[in-house]
Amino acid sequence: MSRFLLIGPPGAGKGTQAVLLSQMLSIPAISTGDIFRSNVKNETELGRLAKAFMDAGDNVPDSLTNELVRARLVEDDSVAGFLLDGYPRTVDQVRELDEFLASRDEALDLVIELVADPEVVIARLSKRATEQGRSDDTEAVVRHRLEVYAEQTEPLIDIYSSRGVLVKVDAIGTVEEVTARIADALAARGISVPEPDSAAG
Ligand code: AMP
Repeated sequence: MSRFLLIGPPGAGKGTQAVLLSQMLSIPAISTGDIFRSNVKNETELGRLAKAFMDAGDNVPDSLTNELVRARLVEDDSVAGFLLDGYPRTVDQVRELDEFLASRDEALDLVIELVADPEVVIARLSKRATEQGRSDDTEAVVRHRLEVYAEQTEPLIDIYSSRGVLVKVDAIGTVEEVTARIADALAARGISVPEPDSAAG
């Protein structure tokens, strides 16, 4: 049981929790947002194609995204498990991921939904805009990203819920509180999570 997905609106803390959980569970965190950002930074062809979509707060087209995730999931470190952060985020991406995993006799074991109120999320992201200078964290773009989430990604919650693999976790609280809630949710499904300290290093 080690194929996980973190899902939730922008600003719910997926990236932060993904990094912590990946250390605790000793599986790679795969963030499509991070992969796109590093391509933009390194001025690759993919980065050049993705940048306008990201700056506008729109999803990058599936044609660019699916291939990238497939390539990442066949790397050696993903074979025993992985934690996806920010993919899939459209119904088509779910279909694509399903097909890929099915071709390897695999499936997602658990989808962790980070639940956060939109206004709280907007406040968090404007703080991050100041701290990290992300070009897609301005208030107008954040509001648009929330709309895109509601339209394109929220339907995934029902899909995974009907498959019985969804667990909802309240994302309002300190980083440690939210991590502890996720660990509890995993433990309730028989997945033990070592304490962060013992997993470090
Ligand atoms: P994130 O870091 O997950 O908030 O992603 C930042 C931006 O990268 C998003 O607003 C999209 O433009 C793009 N992006 C990340 N993941 C995906 C995905 N699975 N599908 C399409 N676009 C994505």
